Amino acid sequence: MYQAPRGTSDFLPEDQPYWEFMRAKAGEVASLYGYQRIDTPVFEDASLFVRSVGEGTDIVEKEMYAFKDKGGESLSLRPEATASICRAYLEHGMPNLPQPVKLYTMGPFFRYDRPQAGRYRQFHQFNCEALGEADPLLDAEVIEVAWRFYESLGLKDLSLQVNSIGCAVCRPRFRAALLQYYAGYLDSICKECRGRFDRNPLRLLDCKERECQRIGAGAPRTTDYLCADCAAHFSQLRASLEATGIPFGIDNRLVRGLDYYNRTVFEIQPRVEGAQASLGGGGRYDGLIEELGGKPTPGIGFAAGLERVVINLKRQGIAPDALPKPRAYLAYIGAPARDAAWRAVSELRKVGVAAVIGFGGRSLKSQLRHANTLGAAYVVIIGEREVERGEAVVRDMAGATQTTVPADELAQALAGQGVGGQG
Ligand SMILES: [Zn+2]
Ligand SMILES: [Zn+2]
Repeated sequence: MYQAPRGTSDFLPEDQPYWEFMRAKAGEVASLYGYQRIDTPVFEDASLFVRSVGEGTDIVEKEMYAFKDKGGESLSLRPEATASICRAYLEHGMPNLPQPVKLYTMGPFFRYDRPQAGRYRQFHQFNCEALGEADPLLDAEVIEVAWRFYESLGLKDLSLQVNSIGCAVCRPRFRAALLQYYAGYLDSICKECRGRFDRNPLRLLDCKERECQRIGAGAPRTTDYLCADCAAHFSQLRASLEATGIPFGIDNRLVRGLDYYNRTVFEIQPRVEGAQASLGGGGRYDGLIEELGGKPTPGIGFAAGLERVVINLKRQGIAPDALPKPRAYLAYIGAPARDAAWRAVSELRKVGVAAVIGFGGRSLKSQLRHANTLGAAYVVIIGEREVERGEAVVRDMAGATQTTVPADELAQALAGQGVGGQG
């Protein structure tokens, strides 16, 4: 028997209310803040991600689903959204629009990662990206959108952490201080971190190993090394964020995993013990568009990991509304009644009443059981006598009452009680 590939999952009908809920809330919050939807292909030129996410990052080195297609093109399934949206921004002349251009998207992303709770090889994100504006007010707005998204879902006890990791001017000084500090701990840090020491020292602060965390606690702080511009930007961001009333903390060890971030980075986590996995986060990436061949253009964005949102919705006992169920189930006994029921179900659907019909000529008992399983509000029963009289029996499943109505008034009777309701 086949199984879904490792690290992927089927979203079954019973899972769909969560996804519908997140789609609806993401769309509502995005438009509340003036973000417009964009959808980009799930695969792109592989070099787009090498250029943007960065050579030497885990994503590019180990996790990309990169392949050559039959025409010899090097492609990759998208491991994240920002690069694709920046590519689309340049390709479609969006730098000529009034700035910032504010876009959002939702969809699947792909990383060849070790599957574990809340981490999948095909995962889903809600992303917002705001391009063409360096104003720290925009940083605060993007963070606010992220926060409101989780809040609109009803999630509680979340913690928002922000940090500034500086810019090309001030980061080298911080980097040097970091290298000097960690040079004294090369025998104590984990194997991964020794690699980071050579390739990407900022990520030393990111390590989740206990000993590395202990060492990281004494490491130099990014905010002590900011240049005047970065310090002013960070201070304005904090003031703007405070004005929104959203509670936040400063986490100087927050650096985020991608190469392209500068200045503002942020992350949102559940406060619950043992639920360390981030629900989402983002940051500023002022050098990225230029890296992709555009004019120097600032940008900032965030990604919400939706599988983790579902885990937290379930953990917090938040149950989204059930999806609509059929309003009517057409049950029948015998061939003449089947033909009458078939005409009736067709009429119901034409006037917008969600209706299903029993198949296979099963017993009335079996059809009633099926109607019950589907959650139909009404069962319409047509037997030999109803066909002769041109009538139908309508059973209200909740009240367990039944009435007989003329067949040609059936649609009206069922529609009159609220079309396509949840029953
Ligand atoms: Zn700076
Ligand atoms: Zn480590």
